[in-house]
Amino acid sequence: MAALGAGAMRLGATMRVGVTAGSTATSHDGLTPRRSAFLAARAPLAPAARMMPVGGSNRKSFSVARTHSRLVVRADGNDDATPAVEAADPVAERAGIESGGLTDLMAQLAALQNENSKLQEDIETTKSIIESAKPPVEEVPVDENGEPLDPALVSIENFFNQPEQKPREPIGAGELLTLPDESTVKWPEPNENPPFWERPPIRMPENLDPKTCEITTMPLHVVHVTAEMAPVAKVGGLGDVVTGLARAHLCQGHNVEVCIPYYSSLEGKIEDVQHVMDFDVPKGEQWEWDGEKEIRMSDFQWSMYSGKIGGCPIIGLRPAFREGSNLFVGQKIYGGSYNEAEAYLSFCRASLECLKVTGRDPNVIHVHEWQCSAVAMLYWDVYHNQGLLNNAKIMLTIHNMDNTGECREEEFMATGVPGSEFNTLERAMDERTIGHNPERLCLMKGAIVYANYVTTVSPTYAREALSGSAGFLGKTLTKERTKFTGVINGVDTEIWDARLDNFLPANFKPGTMEGKALCKKYVQMGLGLNVDPHKPLVVCISRLVPQKGINLIEHAIPRTKEKGGQFVLLGSGHSDPPFSRLAESVYKNDKDVKLLIFYSDALSHLLYAAADCVLVPSMFEPCGLTQMIAMCYGALPIVRKTGGLADTVHDVDDPSMSDSKKNGFVFEGADNGALEGALDRALRYYHERKPWWQGMQEQVMDIDNSWERAGEEYVQLYRSITGIREEFPDHGGQ
Ligand code: ADP
Repeated sequence: MAALGAGAMRLGATMRVGVTAGSTATSHDGLTPRRSAFLAARAPLAPAARMMPVGGSNRKSFSVARTHSRLVVRADGNDDATPAVEAADPVAERAGIESGGLTDLMAQLAALQNENSKLQEDIETTKSIIESAKPPVEEVPVDENGEPLDPALVSIENFFNQPEQKPREPIGAGELLTLPDESTVKWPEPNENPPFWERPPIRMPENLDPKTCEITTMPLHVVHVTAEMAPVAKVGGLGDVVTGLARAHLCQGHNVEVCIPYYSSLEGKIEDVQHVMDFDVPKGEQWEWDGEKEIRMSDFQWSMYSGKIGGCPIIGLRPAFREGSNLFVGQKIYGGSYNEAEAYLSFCRASLECLKVTGRDPNVIHVHEWQCSAVAMLYWDVYHNQGLLNNAKIMLTIHNMDNTGECREEEFMATGVPGSEFNTLERAMDERTIGHNPERLCLMKGAIVYANYVTTVSPTYAREALSGSAGFLGKTLTKERTKFTGVINGVDTEIWDARLDNFLPANFKPGTMEGKALCKKYVQMGLGLNVDPHKPLVVCISRLVPQKGINLIEHAIPRTKEKGGQFVLLGSGHSDPPFSRLAESVYKNDKDVKLLIFYSDALSHLLYAAADCVLVPSMFEPCGLTQMIAMCYGALPIVRKTGGLADTVHDVDDPSMSDSKKNGFVFEGADNGALEGALDRALRYYHERKPWWQGMQEQVMDIDNSWERAGEEYVQLYRSITGIREEFPDHGGQ
C-alpha cells in the first residue's frame, strides 16, 4: 500500500504510534520491538502523536494498536495499517494452554513465568526511563547550621556568582559597527539565490548612542504633506528629503508629522499603524453639456491612520471604502490604474480636512511637489478664509520642475472646488495653454503664488529657474523672487554612514579605510566580476529617465572598460529598455561590467561602499543625492555641472577652488567627449596617484552634507514666515 503523507490518517485506519529509530522522546533504543511497543502503548497520546513516522521515510519504525485487551505489535517501515510482523501475544499463548493438555502444564507454566519475568523487566525499564526523565532534584542550599537558606537570598547569591557573560560591545562614538576582518566575512558567490544583497544585516546597530541635537526652546509644529517618504514610500530623492528633514527637526524637539497617502503598497510597512477615524471630505464632479457646466457635489469618506515611518509620526490617508475606490491602489507608489491628478487633488483636500477635524493647528504646512501643491491654494481660499486652521503658514518645496502638475479645470473639482476659481493668469493658469478652451491649470504655479515661502533644492537650480532654463515657471518665480530661495538638501546620515551601515560586510571611516577594500572585493565576488583591487570601480545608481543623461551613461560603460576599469549600473525607469538589452546580450557574461536593471536599496548601500567613483551625468539635476551619498562612502563623484551637482562637486583640477573644497571630477558639455574629459581623468588618477586618491577619499568623507545643516536653514525660514522666534535665556541685560 502506498504510504500516506506525514502525519496523515486514512479513514478507518488504525491510529498508530510510531517511534523512529534513534528518537530520544521515549528512549526505546536497544529494546526488542515487542518491549518497545509495550512502552509506546503506555506513552501519553499527545507526545505520541508528535512521533508519527514521516511518510516515505526509510527509517524503521515500530507501531502499536490496541483493541480490547489484544496487543498487536508491528515492526514495519511503512505507513500501512497491515502488520508486517505479528509478535507473540500472551492471550494467544493462553489459548494454547487450554488446547495443550496436562502433560505440557509444567512447560506452559514455565513459559508463563518466563513471560511474567519479561514483563517485570519491562516494568523496571519503564520505571528507570521515568526516573531518568525527571528533572534532577535540586539540592536545597543550607547555611552553616544546616538550616535551609531563604530562596530569595540564594537567587541573589547565584546572580553574583554566575560565570561572567561577555557583554555585547557598545559602539562608541567613532567606532566601526563591523571591523574589517577578511577571515570573518561570508564571501558571496555569483548567482546566489536569494542574491547576496538580500542577506540579513550582519549586525544590528542597536547599541548606538542616540543622536544628540541641540533642543529648541521654541518648538514649531510642522505638518509635511507629501507623496513620498523614505524608506518605504520612496521612488527618488523626494522621499529621502522628507524623511531626512523631518528627522532632523524631530531631533531638535520640533513637533513634526508627515501626511502621506496610505498607498496599498504600504500595507504592513508602517510601524504601529492604527486606524484613527473616518471623516467626510467634499468632492465634486463637473460635466459640460452644450456649453452649460453642471457641477455635482458630494461627500467622500476618508480614513485616517496614525503610525510611524522611519521613526517619524505619520498621518496616513486613504478612501474609507476601498471596494468603491481604487485611489492609491497598486503594487507601486506611482502608476496605479487611477487618474493621478484627481487622486492627489482629493488627497490634498483630505489632508486639510483631516487637520481641521482633528483640531490640529500647525505653525507650518510644508507641501512638496506638484502632487501636494493644491494644499497651498485651498488653504488660503477655503480654510483660512473661514477662520479655520488660521495659524498656519505655507512652505512649498519644489524638488523638480520637470513635472509641474498640469490639470484640467474639471479635474480640479476632485478638491470640491471648481477649477475656474483658480484659472486666472495671476493665480494658477498655465500660460502655455492660453487659447485653449478653457485654459488649463498648473498646480505648481498655483502653489508658488499662494505659498508664504518657496524653496527649491539647490541655489544653482534656483538661479537656473529664475533664468527660465529650468522650465516655464521662471516667469512666475521671478515675480515671486523675494520669497524664493535654494537650499541644498542634506543626506540622512542615520541611513548613509560607512561607519555604521549594517548592510556592509565591513565598515570604514577616514583613518580606517580597510573595510572599503573588503566591500569592493565583496561586491566584485557577488556580482561575478574580476576580483581585482587595482581596477577602478565606477558605479551609477539612478532612475533611468532622460533627465539622468541616459546617452552619457550608455557611453560611460564601454569607455570605463576600455580604460581598465569596471562599471556597475543599478537603475530602473521608463528609459531602461536599452540597458536591459545590453545586460542580456553584450554584457551578459562580462567580467568587468554588470548592468542591474531594478531597484534595490540594500544593493545601493553595498555599491556606494564598494565604488571608487560614482557617475552622475544628469542633463539637469535640481539637487542630486547620489553624489553626496557617494562622498559619505569615500567614492569620488564624476558629475555634469548642473543644478545641485554644480553646488556640491568641485573639480580636483579647478584652480579657483581651495584644496579643501575639491572633491570630484566635473564636466560641462552634454556630449561623449565632455564626459570622457572627466571620466578618463578619474581613471588615470586612480591608477597613477594612489596616495593622492586615498587622501581624497578620506577628505570627501569628512564633508558635512548632513541634514543638521540643511535642517537649520529650514528652521530659520519657518521662523521668518511664522514670526515664532527662538527664546534665549535672559542674561540680565548683559
Ligand atoms: P532623483 O530624486 O531625481 O531620483 P536623487 O539623486 O535626488 O535623484 O535621489 C536618488 C535616490 O534614489 C538616491 O537615494 C539613490 O540611491 C536612489 N536610487 C535611484 N535609483 C535606485 C535604484 N535602482 N535602486 C536603489 N536606489 C536607487
